Parts: sequence; structure tokens; C-alpha cells
Amino acid sequence: MALFGTNGVRGIANEYITPELAIDVAKSLGTFMGSKGTIAIGRDTRLSGDMLKSAAIAGALSAGLTIIDVGIAPVPAVQYYVRDHADSGIMITASHNPREYNGLKLIAGDGTEFSRTGESEVEKIYYSRKFASATWDRTGDLRTDNSVNEYYIQGIINAVDSESIRRKQFKVVVDTGCGAGSVTLPFLLQRLGCKVITINAQTDGTFPWRNPEPTPDVLTELVNIVRSSGADMGIAQDGDADRAVFVDEKGDFIDEEVLLAMIAKYILSRRKGVIVTPISTSLRMVDVAAEAGVELIWTAVGSINVARKMIETGAVFGGEGNGGLIFPEHQYCRDGAMACAKLLEVMAVGTTLSDLTKNVPVYFNAKMKVRCDDLISTMECVKANVFLEKGVEVDTIDGVKVWYDEGWVLIRPSGTEPIIRIFAESKIKSRAEELMSRGLKLVETCR
Ligand code: MG
Repeated sequence: MALFGTNGVRGIANEYITPELAIDVAKSLGTFMGSKGTIAIGRDTRLSGDMLKSAAIAGALSAGLTIIDVGIAPVPAVQYYVRDHADSGIMITASHNPREYNGLKLIAGDGTEFSRTGESEVEKIYYSRKFASATWDRTGDLRTDNSVNEYYIQGIINAVDSESIRRKQFKVVVDTGCGAGSVTLPFLLQRLGCKVITINAQTDGTFPWRNPEPTPDVLTELVNIVRSSGADMGIAQDGDADRAVFVDEKGDFIDEEVLLAMIAKYILSRRKGVIVTPISTSLRMVDVAAEAGVELIWTAVGSINVARKMIETGAVFGGEGNGGLIFPEHQYCRDGAMACAKLLEVMAVGTTLSDLTKNVPVYFNAKMKVRCDDLISTMECVKANVFLEKGVEVDTIDGVKVWYDEGWVLIRPSGTEPIIRIFAESKIKSRAEELMSRGLKLVETCR
């Protein structure tokens, strides 16, 4: 069984994600690093966090590494810290998964997520159980550093036009969901001169009000308070605070694809350059790039692919639709608090959030998932059939994307479940629906 899924190692705490597993993953990382170097280790607010962090620390020390325990911090804060102060990192988190979950996520020395090849090396060591073991006098040092969150907050303040934001004295309602963002986002906003109203901003691993995933159905309170308080913006984060969802001043959720295009448009109005996005992203980004006369580069789905391509091409902006925006002037990973600060910078020119969303072209999107037991052969069959179609353009960078007139269909196997996802998009609603049934038919004939 693969140890690493799409987002590190995840499962139910103390059932699958046990202290023993955390020790062995940390030992494997230490072995991979040649028993040399410093790693930073942080955690989100989950109840099992201390247990797993302690175990991972013990494992890494036994491999001879130096450990800096940075405590409770958002994953982008730990990434920012690793980039400048450590050789790699471990984050104890299960991101947006429900309360009972936890996991380990590895961070590369440059602050990006660990690469897939790096993960498979670590995984090989994990299953071989050939761990480096330091002699008694070489077991590692353990230090603590409580400055990680302050360092991160200051980094964001420096990366945006904080003067303009301060002048506006925005009113912002914040729901950090009792997760790791609780220790950074309200304080960042305060420092940006905002009037901040918080809900669920105490760190609490029981997640008493809502699960860590910020879905609209659990954010009713956020919406109500935005409306009743006359706030300029509402923001909610997931458990490890790399993602964020936004509500405009009317209390309406901002579509993730619209948010991405909106920010891309702003960035390109100030600085021209390449932008990067996964193949699953909306045509809104195509329009924004065309309007600015810049190149848009597609990648496979996953923020690590976007981040690496951005580094390679010196892109000015990149990101994916699930609230994962990447700003190179800050760091090469998705970062909810940075996205929030940037959005305030965009608003500081004097437009409301709802007006900003209107500047983005309108498209209709459809999504669907289909159960499928043999993902590989079904995808091969879909691919073969698609190449027989005439007059279409096909892209197989990740799954199968077919460009039709006035829209596209993307068919992708899930990385974790026996399902195939189908996406369709068009400027015309009926065409989007038509393309969706076309995609569904492609999958059905091959299933
Ligand atoms: Mg997350």
C-alpha cells in the first residue's frame, strides 16, 4: 500500500496514524537526509497533534537530526520558516479532513511540498525498515522556536502594499475554524489596520462548531455576521490554513475559479509575465492571460506541480481553483493568509469584492463523479476513443482533457478513491451541460 497519498500520509489518528508510524516516517526522513541537517516540525490544532509530534521528534532525533519544534502553526508558516531556517520540515496535520484524522506532511528544503520522487524515496526506506540509527553520542538536538508565526506574519506584511491596506481600515470577519490559522490570521489582519471580528478563533482540536473543511453549509454564521456587521469581507480557513474561502460584502461566496482569475488579472495589470495553472482550471484564466498578452502554462493537478513550474519559468502568479493561490513575491506554496492580504490590497484601490467578481468573464462549470473499479483500463479506453474524434484537441498532461468548440471536458481518475471525475465548462450553460453528458458517455462506454 502506498504510504503517501495526494497530501502526505493521512488517516484516523491512533488507528492508522499511530505514534509508531510517526516515528518510522521521521526515521525514514532522517535516513533519506543522510542523518544530517535540521528539520522544523510543527502541527495544527488536532487533539492527537502532541502525541504524533512527540513521536516524530523522537524518530528524527534517533536518526541524528537536529529538530526545531515550532509548535502550533499554519502549514504555510512552517514552509516559510523551513525555506529560511531548516533543511526540511514535518507538519503534523490532516488539513481539511474531519476531526478524528491526522497525518504527516513533508516539506522540502526550499519550503515547497516534498516532491513525489522524494516521497517515494522516503517510502522505500520506510518499507525496507533499514533506518539510519545514530550512536548514543550522535543522537540529535531538540530546540524550540516560538517565533515562527511572527516571522510569517511579518513576511506577508512585507509582501503586500500594507500602507494602502491600512489606510482603508477594512472590517473583516474571520472564521479560522479553531485550526492553525487561529494563531496567525486575526493578528495579521489587525496589523494591517483591519477591524477584525473573529469566530472559532480559539485553538481547539475538538473543533466544537465545525469540521476543518470550510464548506458553505458550515459557514452560515460567517455569512450572517458579514451581513449584519456591514463587513467588507469574510474569510474562512481549513485546519492547516493553506486554503481560504472568501465571502463578499453582500455575504455571497466568491467562486474559487473567479477568485483565481480576479487576482491573476490584478497581478498582470501591475506586472506582465507567465502565469501557471493546472489543466482543471477554468477558461477564465485563458481570457485573463490573453487580455494581458502573456503566456499561460498548464500543469498536472496539484499545487506542487504549479509551484515547481512557477519556479522553473519565473512566473508572476499561479494557482489552482481550490483556493490555492501562489505568490512568488512571498513563497512558492499555497497560502490562505497571503491570499487574504493580497485581496485586501486589490480592494484598497477602492472597489468592493462583489464589484471585483464582475470583472471576470462568466463561464458555466459542471462537475460529476462516477464510480469505476478499474481506473487504469477505463482511462486507457477513454483516451483511445477520444483520439478517434475528429476536429478536437486533446491534452493528456493529467487525465484526458478534450477541447471542443466553445468549451472543454476533463476526465480524471481520483488518486485516492475508485472514482473518475468529469469536469466540463463553457460560456453557454446548455453547452456546458451537453459537454458534461458527452464526457459521461465517454466514461460509461469504457467502464
Ligand atoms: Mg490544507
